[in-house]
Amino acid sequence: MSLIALAGNPNVGKSTLFNALTGRNQHTGNWPGKTVELAQGRCQYKGEEIQIVDLPGAYSLVSRSPEEQVAEDFLRSGGADCTVAVCDATCLERSLILVLQVLALSPKTVVCVNLMDEARRAGLQVDTARLERELGVPVVATSANRGEGTQRLLEAVRSVCDGFVPLLPERAPIRGETEEESDAIARRFVLRAEEVASKCVEKNAAGKNLTRRLDRILLNKWSGYLVMLLLLLGVFWLTIEGANYPSQGLQWCFDRLGELLRSGAERLAFPTWLTGALLDGIYATTARVVAVMLPPMAIFFPLFTLLEDFGYLPRVAFLMDHRFRRCGACGKQSLTLCMGLGCNAAGVTGCRIIDSRRERLIAVLTNAFVPCNGRFPALIFLISLSFSGGSALLGAGVLTLCLLLSVAMTLLASGLLSHTALKGEPSSFVLELPPYRKPQVGQVLVRSVRDRTLFVLGRAAAVAAPAGLVIWLLANLHIGGTSLLQGAAAVLEKPGILLGMNGAVLLAFLLGSPANELVLPILMLTLTAGTGLGGESSTQMAGILLENGWTWRESLCTLVFFLFHWPCTTTLLTIRKETGSRKWTLLALLLPTAFGCVLCILLHFALLLIP
Ligand code: GDP
Repeated sequence: MSLIALAGNPNVGKSTLFNALTGRNQHTGNWPGKTVELAQGRCQYKGEEIQIVDLPGAYSLVSRSPEEQVAEDFLRSGGADCTVAVCDATCLERSLILVLQVLALSPKTVVCVNLMDEARRAGLQVDTARLERELGVPVVATSANRGEGTQRLLEAVRSVCDGFVPLLPERAPIRGETEEESDAIARRFVLRAEEVASKCVEKNAAGKNLTRRLDRILLNKWSGYLVMLLLLLGVFWLTIEGANYPSQGLQWCFDRLGELLRSGAERLAFPTWLTGALLDGIYATTARVVAVMLPPMAIFFPLFTLLEDFGYLPRVAFLMDHRFRRCGACGKQSLTLCMGLGCNAAGVTGCRIIDSRRERLIAVLTNAFVPCNGRFPALIFLISLSFSGGSALLGAGVLTLCLLLSVAMTLLASGLLSHTALKGEPSSFVLELPPYRKPQVGQVLVRSVRDRTLFVLGRAAAVAAPAGLVIWLLANLHIGGTSLLQGAAAVLEKPGILLGMNGAVLLAFLLGSPANELVLPILMLTLTAGTGLGGESSTQMAGILLENGWTWRESLCTLVFFLFHWPCTTTLLTIRKETGSRKWTLLALLLPTAFGCVLCILLHFALLLIP
């Protein structure tokens, strides 16, 4: 059995090629740096088994990022019988730098020029025969996403493993003893790559360069931000509008199922407390979370993944880069914030794309500053209750303002962190701007539903079920005529009022920690002295609030507190897992909470001045 290693710059289609060869479904996305772990697989060629290792994407083997170190160590150890150096045909020159370094380390190499279809479309012609002569190793052209050229690639690999092909290159150093020597060697690689590319690539003048034309608009200081805001609004609008009816439909189905279960429990003569705990507690809460969360996520995540696949998201990072840099953070943090709009736990996991540990921590600690899908329904409810006067457009405007406030506070918090707990200079990183690509809609759907929607939903439901039991107990255990829920609300009344809200709202935030979508239902439960979480409509909820003397002042402070308070339990668990540290998890909890408290207290006193 032979072992082959795949090496290449990020985003050249390495994972796609790996999947095409091994039939394994590894996550592929359109931004750099996501293949951090070594994926392994096997394939058969002419009856013989070949083992394939997918090395982390690297821009060069000379700098010292962990991914590049892993790739270099593997190649240096001579672990592979053959290395496949994967190139991007649309920008061969850049890919060739790494290829030349790979050749210097391990001459048993096949060069795979991928994305040939893209190059053809961009009017580029790559002369692979010439490239073969220049490099002295076999060169195979592929379009990995359609599986084109993979058999020829395996044939070339086979021949290299068997030692049939005359191999020209000698092993050569890729860095020197001193920094000057290393620089000189690096320069030689760049010059050689330039020379080889100029000999092997021809530009067909008729080729249309969509990427360049689109980038002129999307990366422009003015139009770029405008498009970004419009896209954001568009995604929100689709999510909000589209999620409404399915959410109601799902709640209706859950209610019917609940009734069936209830009559089943009656027939089995369950004691009242058991039926209450199971159905009003665990079932109603879990159903509520699923009904509120599933539809918006099933819309938001595919839209997000489409933008990712199209190649737009790295442009967002490019646009926002200097703002984050000025706060000592990394431009890629804006991508993790976009993810956070879907779900903060997903956003926190997404922070893996940031290489520097310091910047990754900043991104993790501030992710909950952007509101997630679980908070949007509540924000929209409060906005339409007090600020939009029934106009959907005005409502969307206020929501966008909320989001801008979130981003501003994220930048502020990132700046604070990078001047205190996480001091340091922003790292320099090469931001890859891949060409725009037609998104693969089918794959996008599968990937966003399986990897993101169901994953997040599963975790949320797992915390909602026990939380439901606790909430039910609090609503049903009485001391001296009042339920524990109302008793706790009374205890919290003073701090609640200081924050411009009241005790019941603060309690709802505390008990809603497992999932933000529980906050409003718990509030209703407290205010109505109810016994189980029902699916009240917005009109019913508004009525209950107004009966309890609710004004726009409470709406405003509650809105701000919804934007800035502790992350939900799922997110905290994810942060604990990603950072491996209780200290950082605690800071992630305290930071947004401190922001929310300060803002709400200031607001509270400012509002006192308004008659
Ligand atoms: P990696 O970062 O090198 O692992 O790159 P991926 O395998 O994640 O590929 C990046 C993007 O390029 C994905 O959207 C793929 O679907 C797409 N892609 C990969 N190979 C090809 C190809 O040969 N042609 C085209 N048009 N797209 C490709």
